Amino acid sequence: MRMPNKILAIFDFDNTLFDWVHVWYTCFDAMMSEVEKKTDLSVKELAAEIRPVHQKHGTSEYAFLLEALPSLQNHLKRGKAAEVFEDAIRAFRKARKRELQLYPTVAETLLKIKGTGARIAIYTESQSFYSFYRLKRLGLDGVVDRIYTPPDHDLPDRFLESGGRHYSRDYYQLRYSEHRHTPLGELKPNPDLLAQIIADFGVSKEEAVYTGDSRHKDVAMAKDAGVDYAWASYGEAQDTEAYEMLKMVTHWSDEDVERERRIRERDVRADVVLDKSLSQILDQYSFSEYHQ
Ligand SMILES: [Mg+2]
Repeated sequence: MRMPNKILAIFDFDNTLFDWVHVWYTCFDAMMSEVEKKTDLSVKELAAEIRPVHQKHGTSEYAFLLEALPSLQNHLKRGKAAEVFEDAIRAFRKARKRELQLYPTVAETLLKIKGTGARIAIYTESQSFYSFYRLKRLGLDGVVDRIYTPPDHDLPDRFLESGGRHYSRDYYQLRYSEHRHTPLGELKPNPDLLAQIIADFGVSKEEAVYTGDSRHKDVAMAKDAGVDYAWASYGEAQDTEAYEMLKMVTHWSDEDVERERRIRERDVRADVVLDKSLSQILDQYSFSEYHQ
């Protein structure tokens, strides 16, 4: 049987190209263990303070978390968070450096697709500041032609103004991949979002394929948009300890949790399943040179 041919490959980022849940948990846990050593306050005790900060900033990986926690203010009288909690921040960075890796076969699969002349895009709901960092560290700046993210806070400026930070502005900017925003407040599985990205490239729906790890968000969105898809089931997070922690401190509002519950009620079947690795997409679709 002839495989459907594609000239545009769009991917979800978190838990499709790398294990976001695992990286998040390892880094967060490493940081909070150091905070506990210094303050005798455990992450369980601090969770009730952490969650509102994450909610306020719309992310569970807010870079200025420690200085925003009321229970740590006493410690922060002695200096800036970067100094007082230097060990915690160092532990976070060390864990991130060690754990932030692409899933097996992702690099070679993306390069194979790229080598055909097809275009590659990422569509993520994580904020651009954190996604850019990961795109660069994972060696995908330039492999990915374009990354779509929701509009986010003015974090990079604050990050650099705060002083005592580790890296220069360039460290957080993309050099080769192009960045575009998705419309404010629009979320997966809204099929218009995917249709818009495809239209943005000037190709037809038939010429694109979308890949993501969430059946209820990624697969449902592609199906509703009438776009061929692959379900990256290998990316479904298995780490229950990490999930329990994430639930405790998540930026999701009660409204978000309810929305998620409703999304999950739907029975979404996926016929094209990548159960082992991303490379399986090459058994399902062929790719060729992009043209408008
Ligand atoms: Mg995902």
